[in-house]
Amino acid sequence: MSPRASSSPGESESSRYVPPSIVGEGYPLSDRQRGLLALVARLGRERFAPRATRYDREASFPFENYDDLRESGLLGICVPERYGGLGADYITYALVAAEMGRHCAATALTFNMHVCTTLWTGTLADDLDMTAEQRDEHERHRRLHFERIVKHSKIYAQPFSEANPAAASGKAPFGALARKAEGGWILNGEKIFASLAGAADYYGVLCTEDKPDRSLRDTLYLAVPAEVPGLTITGEWDPLGMRGTVSRTLLLQDVFVPHEAQLMPRGIYYQAATRWPHMFFTLAPTYMGIAQAAYDFTVQYLLGEVPGMPLKRRDSPTKQIAVAEMCIKLEQTRALFLRALADARVDPPKAARLRAYAAQYTVMENANEICRLAIRTCGGRSILKPLPLERLYRDSRCGSLMLPWTAEVCLERLGRETLYEPGESEA
Ligand SMILES: Cc1cc2nc3c(=O)[nH]c(=O)nc-3n(C[C@H](O)[C@H](O)[C@H](O)COP(=O)(O)OP(=O)(O)OC[C@H]3O[C@@H](n4cnc5c(N)ncnc54)[C@H](O)[C@@H]3O)c2cc1C
Repeated sequence: MSPRASSSPGESESSRYVPPSIVGEGYPLSDRQRGLLALVARLGRERFAPRATRYDREASFPFENYDDLRESGLLGICVPERYGGLGADYITYALVAAEMGRHCAATALTFNMHVCTTLWTGTLADDLDMTAEQRDEHERHRRLHFERIVKHSKIYAQPFSEANPAAASGKAPFGALARKAEGGWILNGEKIFASLAGAADYYGVLCTEDKPDRSLRDTLYLAVPAEVPGLTITGEWDPLGMRGTVSRTLLLQDVFVPHEAQLMPRGIYYQAATRWPHMFFTLAPTYMGIAQAAYDFTVQYLLGEVPGMPLKRRDSPTKQIAVAEMCIKLEQTRALFLRALADARVDPPKAARLRAYAAQYTVMENANEICRLAIRTCGGRSILKPLPLERLYRDSRCGSLMLPWTAEVCLERLGRETLYEPGESEA
């Protein structure tokens, strides 16, 4: 942790708390990672954080932030270099997303939906088994998809949630259906909580091939253009937190998409979901960023370094203990977060899969707990708008609700998979 020039009471008044790196001081980073983190930290401090209050108040999409992401090349962060992207790997992306989450969580969370469409179809798909024919098809399709992002700055959303949570939690086939048609697919269904609704150029819709005896293996992942006939966006968006995600409902009524809309060949999404479980851990970095931001705010507040709030409260032993508790929780969260990132790979051992559930649960629950402690410690004036703490608190509450790995799903899986092997009867 960090970082004042002097720590004894009464020492230099000019000392300032410098918020530490999201990975903690001394963590080994490549030059590439250091450069990308510095870029996002600068964008976050100078552009995203000052705009966050407005997006939150209006529950409006952070379009200006996406202009910055476009200009800085970050829309293609996980597009492999041979397709013109920045070629960042899983860990690098997750660290960048965590840094972004410190400054504007709604931007980081929506950015995750966009980036996952490139991570999953890019490096992650390279790890999966495909026939030569499937590999050729995938290569042709993803080339188009990557080109849209790198050359034409298109933005993707990732709607998989449906009214019946069994599908998004991986327990049942998606209710949205795609019927094979001449030259492509015809889609029908409804997707709830589609972040980037009205802002995305393409929606990466998870659906099931319409055929008898549908199973999870029949999942299709199709890029649906925003302007296609039959696609409508409905519903209000006025939630507790993460208000800038604009996660409204998508209705798909006889929407036709051509064959090349397939972001993965048939059956490959199912393989990814079962063999690359950390693909679902990418929602956690945003909340790691929130946890760090709430801690940073608290220290700055107690030091009297929050602009407009020059109250020095650091001499209270109770406040010192609260900071210590927050620091311990933050470092525990970070340690498990970094360990889960290091574990991410195809076919991870059982222990790593279980640790991923534990890490997701810990990041999501602790982000909210750290925000709660921050408010209790800083007191009433700290929750006034436009200070960021009350927004962090509200945003942090959303983390453990995110399927497919909600806090409850993580508990359930962790318990069951510890005590039973795959396929073993629970009788
Ligand atoms: C800010 C925000 C942005 C979002 N963005 C997107 C997005 O871009 N794309 C997208 O697809 N979805 C998105 N979601 C949706 C999210 O992933 C969930 O699908 C949604 O929160 C589910 O709401 P629900 O009312 O249907 O809750 P339910 O899923 O019905 O959950 C209710 C409760 O039951 C538990 N539960 C649900 N299923 C299971 C299970 N199988 N086993 C054990 N417990 C279970 C949950 O933990 C929860 O406590 C977003 C959600 C939020 C809050």
